[in-house]
Amino acid sequence: MSHVEGFNTRFVHAGQEFEPRTGAVVPPVHFSTTYAPEAIGQLRAGYDYGRGTNPTRDSLQTQLAAAEQGTHAFSFGSGLAAEDSLIRAILRPGDHIVLGNDVYGGTYRLLTRVLGPWGIGSTPVDMSDANAVAAAIEANGAKLVWVETPSNPMMKITDIAALAEIAHAAGALLVVDNTFASPFLQQPLSLGADIVVHSTTKYIGGHSDVVGGAVVVKDEALAEQIGFIQFAVGAVSGPMDAYLTTRGLKTLGVRMRAHSENAAQIATWLRERKEVEHVLYPGFAEHPGHEIAKRQMRDFGGMVSVQLTGGAAAARKVAESTRLFTLAESLGGIESLMNYPSEMTHASVKGTELAVPENLLRLSVGIEDAADLIDDLERAFMTL
Ligand code: PLP
Repeated sequence: MSHVEGFNTRFVHAGQEFEPRTGAVVPPVHFSTTYAPEAIGQLRAGYDYGRGTNPTRDSLQTQLAAAEQGTHAFSFGSGLAAEDSLIRAILRPGDHIVLGNDVYGGTYRLLTRVLGPWGIGSTPVDMSDANAVAAAIEANGAKLVWVETPSNPMMKITDIAALAEIAHAAGALLVVDNTFASPFLQQPLSLGADIVVHSTTKYIGGHSDVVGGAVVVKDEALAEQIGFIQFAVGAVSGPMDAYLTTRGLKTLGVRMRAHSENAAQIATWLRERKEVEHVLYPGFAEHPGHEIAKRQMRDFGGMVSVQLTGGAAAARKVAESTRLFTLAESLGGIESLMNYPSEMTHASVKGTELAVPENLLRLSVGIEDAADLIDDLERAFMTL
């Protein structure tokens, strides 16, 4: 009887065979940039030069493909490098992309300020409005639809299966940025998406010590296009970065459970506070995307955004008053982080239709003891 391995088994074992010469259980990190062939044109194990292929990067790519239930994964030096290579692999000058109107500010900047001048058009839309999405694809002949769910930092939820149908009916491919959920909580490829992108800097790396990005697909032709750009442009992850990312991915399942449990407790505590205007957390029944999130995610994840009644001044004050929540960009590490998006991660979309409310704080809830995190927030609120 065939048996499909569970997620944790795949995270731990995919691409991680022991090294046959010494039996080393953890595959060694391959730093060599070049490989000696048997003879001209006869490679020993398919490796010739480090930009094209590297065994440590290959291990990570095998692990990432297994984690996302894809067939091929490509590892890059950052999430944005992954996005740039993906878009250039698929689109040509004159082509168009329809994207969520609350995507990560850096994705929007890449599209409007870097790829725009090279002839790639983009239209932001509200991804929860199926008619608006279909109309935007149609009006622009878009070849790619790009969504983040949950979105950063507004925590909007989009129905991936429904969006895939809309995109496919119009002849477009669906890309899901799965950074916030991680492959443990959500597998977009099995819900109908064509391509998954990650900032592996976040939950996959998981320890705030390595920047990286990934693209995962389930289609041979797409894999060939992306693989060519990865090789020809060379925005690849280095061996040490690939190793650290692999090490992080092995524990993704246990970390995501701990992040999700803590975030649920913190969101519930925040909701009762008089200083809080609104908690944006898909685990609450009143969240507009709750039913969809319940359907397409294993749990609600470790991210919570909160809007304060005291406006921008209160948000800034709380952000600068916590002790365990470190005021910093990024998310998805084991330690709790607090971010003030309108001036930090999303400063690049200030003044655009993607601008973020100024009373909003984004919490990346770590795996510390929830009681200590709540105590930390309580003390910060007392400064208001
Ligand atoms: N996608 C999302 C949802 C992100 O939050 C980020 C970074 O914050 C990126 C992509 C870009 O990734 P990186 O910073 O690794 O380039």
